[in-house]
Amino acid sequence: MNLTPSELLFGYVASALAALVLTGLYYELRRRRFEPPRTDDNVFRCDSCEYVYTDDSHVERSRCPNCGAMNRRFTF
Ligand SMILES: [Zn+2]
Repeated sequence: MNLTPSELLFGYVASALAALVLTGLYYELRRRRFEPPRTDDNVFRCDSCEYVYTDDSHVERSRCPNCGAMNRRFTF
């Protein structure tokens, strides 16, 4: 295999770019997988049955769909 210096340089740059793109894709996929889905909903956790559910962001209290008890907004 006889490569000219410019071919060597091109191969080096191309593989470096490929590695960079693959690393970027890898982290992008990781970020998407671990980031919670963007939602305006609030998370509620029922005081009575510990059922976790979501409701609209503008409500302070929400009724549990599992047992019907009223719950305050659950903050992490
Ligand atoms: Zn409940």
